[in-house]
Amino acid sequence: MLQVIGDPVLHSKSPLIHTAMLHHLGLDLSYTPQVVPKGGLPDYLAWAKAHSVTGFNATMPHKEDLIPLMDTLGEDAVRCGAVNTVCLRDGAWVGHNTDGEGCLAALHHQGLWPARGVVILGAGGAAKAVALRLARENPGPIWVCNRTRSKAQQLCQLDPDGVLTPADFDPGTLSHLCSQAQLVINCTNLGMDGCPHQFEDFSFLDALPSGSGVMDLIYHPAKTQLLHQAQARGLGVCNGLPMLVYQAIFALEYFLDRQLPGEELAQVVFQALQA
Ligand code: NAP
Repeated sequence: MLQVIGDPVLHSKSPLIHTAMLHHLGLDLSYTPQVVPKGGLPDYLAWAKAHSVTGFNATMPHKEDLIPLMDTLGEDAVRCGAVNTVCLRDGAWVGHNTDGEGCLAALHHQGLWPARGVVILGAGGAAKAVALRLARENPGPIWVCNRTRSKAQQLCQLDPDGVLTPADFDPGTLSHLCSQAQLVINCTNLGMDGCPHQFEDFSFLDALPSGSGVMDLIYHPAKTQLLHQAQARGLGVCNGLPMLVYQAIFALEYFLDRQLPGEELAQVVFQALQA
């Protein structure tokens, strides 16, 4: 049995995505959501071992809390200090993080990568996974712009190669940096359904050179104001669904411990999500 745990988690698209992939691969494995409240991980891990759970995904609020509970960690999980995919291997819990790899695959899929010069908005958990993964591609400068500057600084200090630079989040700074970039990635909550706040000013998009792209990690709504504004300026756009799909494909590869036909599965999942 496979699961996704979190709180809340019943709204998660992961069961639909994984069930579509498992069905396509002809595998008789179930993938179900399981509510696990904050602080409930030790009990869940014991329960999971006793109930033949061979792997699970984790969402809010568990990604960072899983780190000390794992027997082994993959490189990406160590780097971002967060786990979104857990496998049981010979009785040991192995934690991985597929968010950064999923974002990179989504950018490739949407034709937004490679890009020289990247402006990342936000410095939370998602921004960390994305920034640290893209930094390894060495695409020229990557600026991490965050409302709370100290969090951007902490994130950038995790990058051993000095590709990441912290920056402020005000419209003037964003415009200045966008004039030197080809890609903006929104990793903040701004514009998400349920978030009371929105970008106050989209003028930074005007500074992007033509042919640039904008990715928003948000997929509720499917097209945020940021993506509407970017599209109106003729920029390439991508919402958060492709990243969600590709991180799930990489997670399933860990669960099954084998390589999978990624593009074929991505098409299957995109169709399932549209149905
Ligand atoms: P998080 O750790 O809570 O980080 C939130 C970020 O948003 C922080 O940088 C925060 O800045 C910033 N922020 C929040 N409100 C703001 C405001 N009013 N003005 C300016 N900045 C603001 O959250 P997360 O886990 O990184 O998730 C961020 C987004 O990514 C969410 O919308 C989530 O759904 C999405 N996501 C998508 C995927 C996918 O597969 N597509 C995967 C993971 C996450 P401060 O540091 O200043 O508070």
